[in-house]
Amino acid sequence: MKIDYNNRFKTLDSLLKNAINEQKREYTYTYPPKRAYNEINDPDEFVRQAWEGYEEGAVALYAHIPYCPPRQIPQPLLQKPNIKSDELQEIWGKESCGFCNLFGIPVYGNDWKEQISDYMNTLSDEILLYEEIFGQNHEIASIYFGGGTPSLGSPEDFTKVFESIRDIFGEIPEDIEISLEASPETIKSFDEMKDYRDIGFNRISFGIQSFNLDEITMIGRPAQRSYLKTSKDVVTWAKQAGFKNINIDLIMGLPLQTKENFNSSLAQAIDLDPDTITLYSIAMRGETGFGRCVSHNLIQPHSPQFIAELYDSARTLLEDEGYKQKTSTQWIKQETGGYKQQENMYNMIPELGVGAGARTAALNAHYSIDYAVSYEESKKIIDQWNQKIKNRDFPATHGFILDKDEKKRKRIILQLLSPNGLNSENYQKEFENHPNDDFPEEFAAIGINELIEEGEGFIYFNEKGIQYSSVATRLFWSERVEQAVSEYKTK
Ligand code: SF4
Repeated sequence: MKIDYNNRFKTLDSLLKNAINEQKREYTYTYPPKRAYNEINDPDEFVRQAWEGYEEGAVALYAHIPYCPPRQIPQPLLQKPNIKSDELQEIWGKESCGFCNLFGIPVYGNDWKEQISDYMNTLSDEILLYEEIFGQNHEIASIYFGGGTPSLGSPEDFTKVFESIRDIFGEIPEDIEISLEASPETIKSFDEMKDYRDIGFNRISFGIQSFNLDEITMIGRPAQRSYLKTSKDVVTWAKQAGFKNINIDLIMGLPLQTKENFNSSLAQAIDLDPDTITLYSIAMRGETGFGRCVSHNLIQPHSPQFIAELYDSARTLLEDEGYKQKTSTQWIKQETGGYKQQENMYNMIPELGVGAGARTAALNAHYSIDYAVSYEESKKIIDQWNQKIKNRDFPATHGFILDKDEKKRKRIILQLLSPNGLNSENYQKEFENHPNDDFPEEFAAIGINELIEEGEGFIYFNEKGIQYSSVATRLFWSERVEQAVSEYKTK
């Protein structure tokens, strides 16, 4: 079955064209997004139903650690005339990085290590709650510790979590990806790095974001040259410690960023020879420090064209240096780079999420605990999560049941985002129709804009399509999800 490119559907087509013209890039890694979830009345029943029918098979595990090093209000903002520091504090919000809207809180006081250890103990107990559901019939496909800043946890903390994983899923296969997200300054020496490697981590992802001091300062991170040196040291230590896959995250469009500075950051990242480089376009969302500063005219955002130019020059540089583009944000070294946890998601392997901010993507439903950005609300959610697990209850408070239509949409969105593309034969086997028959207008809109190709049973984005894959896959969001997202209020 060939895609009918002439089957024009004006609304979707113009929506996509506008997005392309405005160089909009959104990230739709997960569908449906948490903002579309509804409150759950009976978490125990909901969790059981979510996994019903998945009697055996692989499970990817995502563990969320919500703690971060406290960040500061950037000096250049404090030096602005006509605004007092307490007013600025109010606008900037909790002491997080200016661009970040992830669910997490800064750690304060002398006992933060104990706080994190307690949290990790509870997380281990949460995994054990799944004993009855998985009943020793499932194997672990990949493990990912995300945050927040998981590298604030000690190797001993992680060892306890690994024990719980073994209790439920049996031995952890040696060849699976076990990934740690890290903020550079949290790992202080080669020996500390080696400890993480020795307990089983084989992939490490550094949220470096920039190698330019002005940009780092504007994020709210330490305005010190030594911070930049540490950002390089940790990559070298990770190599020496034998990590198989090292990722560096950089951000395009940070305040005060120039093209020269961004290109210089990227060149410095390439010099460190990581296996994977991930480039994110900044999103000045209203719930972030940057977003609020933009609405108070304290920060001038870059134009979408500026970011598009950075993206284009980055792509050329990365390809010249031997990196291959894998997704709209990710470039890899052929042999070692990548992100297996994400690939597992694209391959429809269910993901069990544990920790206060984690989302579970099971067979029949997705669920999580409530989401918040402010310090007070986030803290409340973490306490609530803790209490539920102490009572041996599943902590889920919100969820989304996937009916047949939503399962189709989820599969199309995730697989179109994957490097291999949408396996239309498998889709047809499961859902009877060819994807183009189920969603003719959406495929037509993408086709008219020359973003996809089809061959050997797969529909996949071409080079131009990869660049706009997040916008293009948004066309497959259901009305129900769009509606819920538009009505969602961030706490
Ligand atoms: S970017 Fe990372 S370190 Fe900064 S606040 Fe967000 S999760 Fe924490």
